[in-house]
Parts: sequence; C-alpha cells; structure tokens
Amino acid sequence: MTSLDSSLHPYEAPVSAGLFARGQQITPGGVNSPVRAFRAVGGTPRFMVEGSGPWITDADGRRYVDLVSSWGPMILGHAHPAVVEAVAAAARRGLSFGAPTEGELDLAEEIRRRVAPVERIRLVNSGTEAVLSAVRLARGATGRPLLVKFAGNYHGHVDALLASAGSGVATLGLPDTPGVTTGAAADTIVLPYNDVAAVEAVFAERGNQIAAVISEAAPGNMGVVPPLDGFNAELRRITAASGALLILDEVMTGFRVSPAGWYGLDPVDADLFTFGKVMGGGLPAAAFGGRADLMAHLAPSGPVYQAGTLSGNPVAVAAGLTTLRHCTDEVYAHCDEVSAVLRGAASAALFAEGVPHRVQQAGNMFSVFFVPDERQVRDYDDARTQDVARYTAFFHALLARGVYLPPSAFEAWFVNAQLTGEALEQVLEALPAAARAAAEVERHRTGALESERSS
Ligand SMILES: *Cc1c(COP(=O)(O)O)cnc(C)c1O
Repeated sequence: MTSLDSSLHPYEAPVSAGLFARGQQITPGGVNSPVRAFRAVGGTPRFMVEGSGPWITDADGRRYVDLVSSWGPMILGHAHPAVVEAVAAAARRGLSFGAPTEGELDLAEEIRRRVAPVERIRLVNSGTEAVLSAVRLARGATGRPLLVKFAGNYHGHVDALLASAGSGVATLGLPDTPGVTTGAAADTIVLPYNDVAAVEAVFAERGNQIAAVISEAAPGNMGVVPPLDGFNAELRRITAASGALLILDEVMTGFRVSPAGWYGLDPVDADLFTFGKVMGGGLPAAAFGGRADLMAHLAPSGPVYQAGTLSGNPVAVAAGLTTLRHCTDEVYAHCDEVSAVLRGAASAALFAEGVPHRVQQAGNMFSVFFVPDERQVRDYDDARTQDVARYTAFFHALLARGVYLPPSAFEAWFVNAQLTGEALEQVLEALPAAARAAAEVERHRTGALESERSS
C-alpha cells in the first residue's frame, strides 16, 4: 500500500513541505481548515503565494489551474483588478469603524434585488455564523426546539448541525462529533437527503415541535448531489403545513450558479436564506435574510440577540459588492459553458479508460463520483459508495500536471470566469492521463490480489 501511495504522488514540493512541517508546530494538523491538509488524498498540501485569473502559484513556484476557486468565492478569478481596486480604496478610507457604513446597505440591497423572498438581511462574517444566527432566529420566532437537517449536508461547524455533516467531516470520515454535548445535538433530527417520505414521517410524529428544516439549496458538500425535481418545493409545503420554517442554505450556491443563486434556477420561497462565499468576493462576508416579519425578531428590533464587532466590515463589503456587480449574465454563461466542457471531457476520459463514474452538477458546480455503477447519487449513502482511492490517483495525476482539484472526493469543483484559453487547454490535456491513473488503481489492486493468491 505504501509503495502504491508514493507512486501516486511523486511530485515533490520541498518549500511547501517545509512550511507544512512548520505549520504542524503551531496549528493542529498544520492548517487552519481541515480539508486543506490533504489528509484524504495524501501528499504535501501546497502553500499558495499568489493567484491571477484562473491560475494559482505555490511556494515552490509551480503554477496550477485552480478548480477550487477558494471553495467558490473566486468566481471572477483571482486578483480581479476591479475587486482589488475596490478593496484598496475601501482600506484607504479606514478598515473598520464599528459603526454603520453605506456600503453595507448597497450590498444588502444588491442581494435583495436578486433574491425576492429576502426582504430583510443581516450581514455577518462567515457562513457558519450566518447559519447559527438563522437557526437561533428560527427557534426564537417559533418557540420550538427541534431542527431537521439532512445527512451529507454541511452548514458550517455549528454544534447542532455537525451530525452526519458533509465537507471535512465526510472527508475525514469522522464518526461522531466530540465536543458537541448531547444537549446541543439532542434537538437535531438527521434525515436522508432527497427523501420526502422521511420528512413527512418525522413531521407526522413531531411536527408541532419542529422549528425549522435546514437544507443546502443544492448540496455541494458531499460532492454535488442536487435536489430531485420538486424536493425543495416539497420541503416548503411540509414545513408550511405545520408552522415550521424552511431555511435554505445558499452559502455555496448563492450568486455562484446564477445571479440569484439556486433560487434563480429553482425558485422556492424559503422563510430564511443563508449566504456566504461569493458574496464576500474572497473576504469574510456572509449574510442571512428572509421574511421581514421574521427578521423583525432580531435585536435591536426584537428580542433574539445577534451581533458582531466586524459584521458588515467595509473592506469585505467592498470586495463582495464589487464582485456581485461584476457577476454579469456573461460571467454565468461562461461558467456554465466551461463547466459543461469540463464535465464532458472528464467523463469521456474516464469512459475511455473504462472507469465507472458519475458526473453530477448543480448549475456550474459539479463533481465526479467514482461510484461502482452509473446510478444517480441521490444521498450521502450513495456518495459514500465511491472509490476514494480512484479519486486520490486522479487528483494527484492532475496536480502533477498543474491542475488543482479539491483535495477530497466529497467536494464540488468550482470554475471561474477567467477559465479559458491556455488554462482550459491545460486541464483538457491532463484529463486522459488522470483517467489512466484512476484506471490503474484497479490494476494495482488486482495485481496485489494476484500476488497475494500466488504467495
Ligand atoms: C461553506 C459552507 C458553509 C460554512 O461557511 P464558512 O464561511 O466556511 O463558515 C455553510 N453552508 C454551506 C452550504 C457551505 O458550503
């Protein structure tokens, strides 16, 4: 196994390796967010030093086409001149005041203009904070304790929502959530995703105790597993019938898959929405919002407390607002097109090598599941049937050829508006070799089995 592993990632990155060793002496696991550590794929996580358009460059001076885009936010590509200029101009005016600024209103109005059911908004600093605030508001407004979430959905590292979570929890295969008290988790009900009958059953039994159902508008944190046709609308119907709220988490999809996020593709009027990632343009800005009467429960207009020293920070707001204003129809059309090209090319390369797989998309977000058959991946159990060893081989073959994929089989791939020309060519040229590497995992395995039998 060891020799197979090292043959899968032969590309050395001595400067990154040195930095990673130093990182492990100062922060747990050497990184500030778990998936960055390459635990699932092995090898040395690359420390980045700069980015420009579709490219990022690591500390060893190697350049990659970036298909992570900071997990979504960099939809305009790296160091977009207008965004950089807006950030610099805002910084020159002052970094933070702890008092309201006009830009916050501009950003909030820009969001409301795009997502009609969002009548009132509050700005926060991270997706996690947006979700935990929305959940507190839902409980405060309904006076009910229970929360329904779906396995494989990720809503940030909120205590009550870490059970069966996607993203890093899925990547690392963490079985439980140490540090979360039984009390904090007791009011969370976890259901299989895309399963309307399971939702109905739980509502039949405990509907009048449920404050909210929270769901990723289109999940991207167990790989991309879009809602089946009408699933979000069914959630709307079931929650409304029993006086519970629907929270659609658009932290990942918001302003990424269309000008109005997933809402633009599948307009279901949730009571509350959460946003992050693209709306910060690469700086920490996030938001939650929804019906005016509900949002009025928030302090200072109501009793549900929520606050933040840096909320609506003027520099982050400048990055987010400028990013949203540059997210034109052409940007989304380009992302859709380049996503379709990559999905087709990845699938064709894998098919040519006889590697079983399934490519799934939600707008321009997509991922490749190395699943044993080509059935649709509909929930977390399906997603977990993938052959992670194949993804590892595929990942490292691409990394060696200058293509940076998410270092986990349970994450979405993110394109950007600058992915074109030479950068796109580089990915297309690398895919056949990556597919071959994924195919060879099987050959190695069969070989190992045969030599075991013969010995
Ligand atoms: C990324 C993400 C979050 C958490 O956002 P952070 O800014 O990382 O705290 C929450 N929900 C979804 C759907 C996400 O993709």
